[in-house]
Amino acid sequence: MTDKYCVIGNPISHSKSPDIHAAFAAATGQDIAYERCLAPLDGFADTVRDLVAQGYRGANVTLPFKLEAAALATRLEARARLAGAVNTLRFEGGEIVGDNTDGPGLVADIVRNAGVPLTGKRVLLLGAGGAARGVILPFLNEKPKAIVIANRTRATADALVAHFADHVAYSGQISACGFADIAGPFDVVVNATSASLSSDLPPVPASAFRAGTLALDMMYGKEPTPFMAFAASHGATVRDGLGMLVEQAAEAFLTWRGVRPETSALLARMRAS
Ligand code: NDP
Repeated sequence: MTDKYCVIGNPISHSKSPDIHAAFAAATGQDIAYERCLAPLDGFADTVRDLVAQGYRGANVTLPFKLEAAALATRLEARARLAGAVNTLRFEGGEIVGDNTDGPGLVADIVRNAGVPLTGKRVLLLGAGGAARGVILPFLNEKPKAIVIANRTRATADALVAHFADHVAYSGQISACGFADIAGPFDVVVNATSASLSSDLPPVPASAFRAGTLALDMMYGKEPTPFMAFAASHGATVRDGLGMLVEQAAEAFLTWRGVRPETSALLARMRAS
């Protein structure tokens, strides 16, 4: 029988996830159906319960429901618990299991696709919202030299560092600062702010970059973003968030189906179109 999955969000019509998972299913021979699911802004929990009742096996979760999904899950994988955000749900054995594959997806895109190892590197993470929270533990697992989290609202970055200091043994490498205090250059700079959504440049100083810095904007589909243009003008190699999108989907597919699809051909096709 075909196993059913979907991506839940509001809005959702723009989502590329159904195309990505259809390609993964075809490439791996898995019998799944995957569709878009629009949840009312005040109806996320009811939507999920309805999907469970209809026999769905799992779902991806996107804006604005990632925090609500973490609260709704009856069990959380460690990386989702630490992030406080869920982008992947599994419905199994009467449980709603929450996971977060955004961070592993970003690490896979940087390390495998861009060919930039994070071990021993200085990483600057711009932003302290849901997307930033999800990537900190997977970044730490790569043993970078330092992770600096810079946020417009400094207190949110401080709180994030304190949160990870309480939970992760090797969190000494993480520190927080405001944009004005960023002391570069960095090997890798990730824009996890939502500034690119409104075509704004987060106030990152040029000194954050050097020739060869990898500057990755989590945003995709609107490139080059002001962040990418600014970073490139200061010598950085730039990358958008499309690879992260495809890799987080591959990680989700792995948690559901036990097989991690090959991603490079699909990513190349999506970039070409
Ligand atoms: P949130 O709303 O949770 O967080 C937004 C963050 O951006 C906050 O830290 C906020 O700072 C900061 N911010 C907003 N505007 C500005 C600005 N003009 N200048 C500086 N900082 C700003 O959003 P998410 O974390 O969920 O998403 C962030 C981005 O990541 C989005 O563009 C999203 O599309 C993208 N994303 C991409 C994914 C992918 O697969 N490629 C997956 C997940 C997210 P403050 O605290 O001061 O308000």
